[in-house]
Amino acid sequence: MVDPNSMPHLHIAAFPPPPMRDWALFLDLDGTLLDIASTPDSVVVPDGLVKDLAAAQKALDGALAIVSGRSLADIDRLLAPLHLPAGGEHAAIVRRPDGFYDEVEQKVPDDWKRSLNDLVESHPGLLTEAKSHNVVAHYRNAPSKKAAVRQAVSALVANDPENFELLEAKMAFEIRPRLVTKGRAVHALMNVAPFAGRVPVFVGDDRTDHDGFAAAIELGGIALDVGLAFGGRPRDVRAWLKRFANL
Ligand SMILES: [Mg+2]
Repeated sequence: MVDPNSMPHLHIAAFPPPPMRDWALFLDLDGTLLDIASTPDSVVVPDGLVKDLAAAQKALDGALAIVSGRSLADIDRLLAPLHLPAGGEHAAIVRRPDGFYDEVEQKVPDDWKRSLNDLVESHPGLLTEAKSHNVVAHYRNAPSKKAAVRQAVSALVANDPENFELLEAKMAFEIRPRLVTKGRAVHALMNVAPFAGRVPVFVGDDRTDHDGFAAAIELGGIALDVGLAFGGRPRDVRAWLKRFANL
């Protein structure tokens, strides 16, 4: 949950406002639409979610996007048969509605990924998730290894702190290019139809969503933190999403 005091410049709504037709909706996936699972591969897409996303997208004339730490391929797999506008890997790659891919150039070096794989092999329970631009080290199933993981990822980032940064996520550390933030997806999509001219509304649950919140607010929109506005419950976000179908 976002500590509002840590973000005095942001006005994060403490309850979900009623859905509006003129919104452009940006939705995080894990911890927002989906309940967090023990590994990224074991999340369950609840019955009806895909249908409700499709209905909401239609009600918003297409102005609905997923912005996730997951890859675009993973987002599409989870939400099949939908192929929504999306920011994958925290918006390292943004897929616009016109099919254009807006991608940052920097990528986490391969030898950093190899070094994390070595760490995982020597510590049972740890898991790495390699993406095209970022790499994640998960310790959810080995919480006692948090310090060791932090040390390893910090040492890697220290090789090139100008271009890369360390993100602490839920039970995971992620290395990503500094240019990559979820705010990129908001800015990239709000420049094009059918997003342009609408009120951006960003819904997310963790620190990686703060840049999305900031971008939405900067463009005159609304930030909805799942912890504050939905009591930390993805099922309440899903219930709210259903209401878009009746707009
Ligand atoms: Mg999340």
